[in-house]
This record gives sequence, C-alpha cells and structure tokens, in this order.
Amino acid sequence: MGRIVISGGAGFIGSHLCDRLLGEGHGLFVLDNFLTGRRSNIAHLIGHPGFLLGEQDVSEPFAVDGPVDYVLHLASPASPPDFKRLPFETIRAGSFATHRMLDLAIEKKARFLLASTSEVYGDPPPEQHPQNEDYWGNVNPIGERSVYDEAKRYAEMITMAYRRERGLDTRIVRIFNTYGPRMKPDDGRVVTNFIRQSLHGEPLTLYGDGNQTRSFSYVTDTVDGILRLLMSNEPGPINIGNPVEFTVRELAERVTAMIPGAGPIITVEMPFQDDPKQRKPDITRARTLLGWEPKVPLEEGLRLTIDAVRTELG
Ligand code: NAD
Ligand code: UDP
Repeated sequence: MGRIVISGGAGFIGSHLCDRLLGEGHGLFVLDNFLTGRRSNIAHLIGHPGFLLGEQDVSEPFAVDGPVDYVLHLASPASPPDFKRLPFETIRAGSFATHRMLDLAIEKKARFLLASTSEVYGDPPPEQHPQNEDYWGNVNPIGERSVYDEAKRYAEMITMAYRRERGLDTRIVRIFNTYGPRMKPDDGRVVTNFIRQSLHGEPLTLYGDGNQTRSFSYVTDTVDGILRLLMSNEPGPINIGNPVEFTVRELAERVTAMIPGAGPIITVEMPFQDDPKQRKPDITRARTLLGWEPKVPLEEGLRLTIDAVRTELG
C-alpha cells in the first residue's frame, strides 16, 4: 500500500492503471491536463476516497503535498496523429515533464517509473526482429515521428542519469502497441480506426500495402506488466507487449469478420514518414524477471474493444 502520483492518469492506459491500483488499496493523485485524455475515463473514480485529481500540465512547475511512495510518468501524446498535431507538447512531455516528475521522486524519496515505448527502437532492420532490450534502435532523428521517438529516448536517458548520478530508484517500461476500451474512437490508432470504420460500414484504410506488422497487447495485460515491473527490483528497460505478430491487413480481416456490415478493406497512401515495417517484442526479460506474459488473445480483446466503441458511438 502506498501513495502514488500518476501523470497522464486520465489517459487510456493511465486510467486502467488507476482502476487496478485503487482496487489494490493504493492512494492515487492523478496529474493530467486533458491534452489527449478524457474526463470520462476517470469519471467513475471521482469521489473515491483514495482518488485525487489535479488538473496540471506536468511540464510546468507544480507541487505535491504530503508523502509519495511511487511516481509514475505516463503523460505524453501517444497516437501518431496526436503527436503529429502536438509536436511541441510531445517534446515537452518527454523532456521538461520528465525532469519535473523525476525531481518530484527525488524530493519525496519515491520510486520512479517511466512509460517508454517500442518507438525507441525506430524502424529496426530485419536482423533485429523481434526487438529485445539490448537493441539501441534505428530512429530517424529529423523525421515526423522524431518528436515522439527522440523525446522518449531523451526521457530514458535522463531517467538513467538520475539513477546513476542521484541514486534515484527507477524503472523503465517499453510499452508495445496496446489497445482496449477507453481509447478514443477517433484517436487515429489502427485498432480503433478499423473498429470505428467497420461499425459505420466505411472502408477500412490500410496505410501503404498493409504488410507492415504490429503485435497488440490488451490493456489489462499491459497494466499487469507495468505493475509487476514497478513492484519488482528490476530497473529495466523491460519490454511489455504481446509477441503474437499480425500484419495490419490481417488485423483488418479479423475486425471485419467480427462486425456484421463492415465495409471493404482498401489501401491508401501512407500518411506518416518512417512507419516501422515490423514490430514484435522479445519478452524473455519480462517472462524470466517478472513472471509476466500476456493472457488475453486478440479475438477476446477485440470483442471487448468493439463492445466499448459500439457503446460509445451509440
Ligand atoms: P493517452 O493520450 O490516452 O494518455 C496520455 C495522457 O497524458 C492523457 O490523459 C493526456 O491528457 C496526458 N498528458 C499529456 N501531456 C501532458 C502534460 N504535459 N501534463 C499532464 N498530462 C498530460 O495515451 P496512452 O495510450 O494512454 O499512453 C500513455 C503512455 O504510455 C504514454 O506515455 C505513451 O507514450 C505510452 N505508450 C503507449 C502505448 C500504446 O499503445 N497506447 C505504446 C507505447 C507507449
Ligand atoms: N494503420 C493503418 N490504417 C489506419 C491506422 C494505422 O494501416 O487507419 C497502420 C499504421 O501505418 C501502422 C500500424 O497500423 O503501420 C499501427 O498504427 P498505430 O497508429 O496504431 O500505431 P504505431 O505502431 O504506428 O505507433
């Protein structure tokens, strides 16, 4: 049991993390400026005795009263259309905001966890497939995605500097593509795009040829991995993701098979530079060090996500 500060707690993954931590009896203080998150994600937690919300941009100065045991930094735009639309906010979330959250952990003598991403691996060459934590990455430093990728690499870098130079107790989790209820139906990520398009009977848009691959982790599995890392003695970085790999075309076929009246699958021009061609986590470290592996198969996770998007779209 402890008091936990979570930046980005009103976001998709953050709000599921809040549910799980409150259920375990922890006290939470969520800091979020609702840049990409939503009040509806945490509406059910308002009034809970263990839950406190501060509307705050964590890249700006802020103070937290009282003792804190854990500081979790999740605040950052995460969907490619979001970080394309919000480049400077994304850079600040990885840089200034990470500094401030690290300083809070120093001040409170708390453990710090950084939500990093598989994007630190960039677009790996075929011999780096699947990606393990020892791979240093192949990121275009000046491309459109660099505001996100390089900000996260910077965030990992300063986290390690605080660990080495200032003795902070740190954790770095590299999260791979995660999906589930509470993703915004229009946030532009592939799972919600395909579900929303199918429910409306619109064409499913495969970017490029649709042969690029991703590995999709259901949100409760991702949250479980993050918390196992937080409570372990492992500093990371540790990959948390589902190693079952699909082409984006296969994902589209699965979604259309589950939604009566779904539209056709079409290809459109790739709207983003440097879209990684393959992505699949090597989760040997998570398996051996944390005893973690994902449990929810894609079919089941998609069913739960389709139900949530259907309810939300009415
Ligand atoms: P999200 O956009 O739903 O959540 C991010 C939250 O951070 C939002 O509530 C937003 O309002 C908040 N936020 C952003 N900037 C802020 C700031 N300056 N101050 C305060 N709050 C701020 O995204 P998500 O998918 O839940 O991602 C959460 C974290 O996990 C991010 O750090 C992201 O990089 C990481 N991640 C997510 C995925 C994924 O597949 N969803 C994969 C890899 C890494
Ligand atoms: N994608 C797609 N159609 C869409 C949205 C995304 O084909 O409508 C592709 C995108 O090009 C990428 C993959 O799906 O190859 C995953 O995209 P997402 O934005 O969900 O996450 P990323 O892994 O790129 O951060």
